[in-house]
Amino acid sequence: MPPSTITIDGPVASGKSTIGYLLAQRLGYLYLDTGAMYRAVTYAALSRGVPVEDEAAVTALAQALRIDVVPPTADDGRQYTVLADGEDVTWEIRRPEVDGNVSVVSAYPGVRRAMVAQQRRIAAGGRVVMVGRDIGSVVLPDADLKLYLDASPQERARRRWLERRSRGEDVSYEEVLAMTLRRDEIDSGRAVSPLRVPEGAVVIDTTGLNVEEVLARVLRCLSTTDP
Ligand code: C5P
Repeated sequence: MPPSTITIDGPVASGKSTIGYLLAQRLGYLYLDTGAMYRAVTYAALSRGVPVEDEAAVTALAQALRIDVVPPTADDGRQYTVLADGEDVTWEIRRPEVDGNVSVVSAYPGVRRAMVAQQRRIAAGGRVVMVGRDIGSVVLPDADLKLYLDASPQERARRRWLERRSRGEDVSYEEVLAMTLRRDEIDSGRAVSPLRVPEGAVVIDTTGLNVEEVLARVLRCLSTTDP
């Protein structure tokens, strides 16, 4: 029996979403990328004219917003569909202005409380791969298997830069590296649920490894884990 509740944490572009998705598919588990939830709140604030610096207003929005992460509803390369109050925001939440503001929004304690409550409800049934920054440390500390993926900032920035260029964005590597370092700093330095290696997590450094190699290591962890 493979572990039923699996968490994957790590910094920006460490490979956790790609690996989490493939692992969930392989096991027939639910895949939840919790970053999409924080992004949905950020996009809702930006598109509704709620100033992201206004903690009270953003928190109220996070509490009222209905976020659903469901299986893909279109065949356009998406891993899942994100609905915010019923509106499909799957691609909008990947926009640069969301990248630039999501770390501020996700540092608000009230926003986190609202998201964590939803995440725990979703995980209650087991058979889930949940990906984020605080999943093994705060959201599901009793998970059967906890993984932490990491890679050098330069490698992570290079991956994100290639991704954004392939989407047609005109962005320089230096710009992406600066943004990666800034987001790392906010995610690791915030007071509530900072990015940390969760207790008991298996750490995998993905620098210089391709997706197949990382997945092979994860599958090896699975076979040695006794839930
Ligand atoms: O993983 P992704 O880059 O999509 O996450 C976007 C942002 O959401 C992160 O930079 C982080 O600030 C926040 N986040 C978080 N806790 C999580 C998942 C994401 O704070 N569990």
